[in-house]
Amino acid sequence: MFKDKVIETISKEFGAPARETLKVTAWEIGSNIGVVVQTDQPNKDDHAFVWMPYPPDSESLPEVALEYAAESGRHSNTYASSGLERGKPVLKLIVTSNQELDDLISYIKAFKVFAPLPEFKASPEAGDEPEFTSPENLIRVDTSSMPKPAPIKPRREAIPRAVQREVWQRDGGQCVECESKEKLCFDHIVPFSKGGSNSVRNLQLLCERCNLSKGNRI
Ligand SMILES: [Zn+2]
Repeated sequence: MFKDKVIETISKEFGAPARETLKVTAWEIGSNIGVVVQTDQPNKDDHAFVWMPYPPDSESLPEVALEYAAESGRHSNTYASSGLERGKPVLKLIVTSNQELDDLISYIKAFKVFAPLPEFKASPEAGDEPEFTSPENLIRVDTSSMPKPAPIKPRREAIPRAVQREVWQRDGGQCVECESKEKLCFDHIVPFSKGGSNSVRNLQLLCERCNLSKGNRI
């Protein structure tokens, strides 16, 4: 299972877990960062669910994150770790590849020292552009034979707390599709990658199930 590899890799980088139960394997990294790998739930063979504290307002959110609004009760006993206490907003990351696992490790390392958090993308990008150091290295491009370039992904900013609160109030603290009050997260109606913004109008509360099924439809 991929989650076993995730657990093994985090242990190699940050030491043995502080807590292992049937439901979670958890680390306390530094003095205030809880990192929790969920071990009970619908972990599929090819991905792992990792819980982390919410990044500071000034930082981008990882592309692979589901954002959970403050939900009392949800993160209490099972996930009680530093930064993941009851009612705190948290990030749930869906780690699905070795690339994302590497990103996760750098993200935790940066978080630990309060460095600017690195970008953590949902899918690996193509390699760097070749570098042309001098004019004689320039080669004319036959554009007609080139594939269409991938659109440049905009950097994703954190949803301001004030916006989160307004969306939460407007949607009545429940999933707008099925009215569930569990496992809620903020969903971008127009995805961030397609130019959607962090505005109140472009955000809605969805439960994890509806969010994942929306993701599968797109
Ligand atoms: Zn729902």
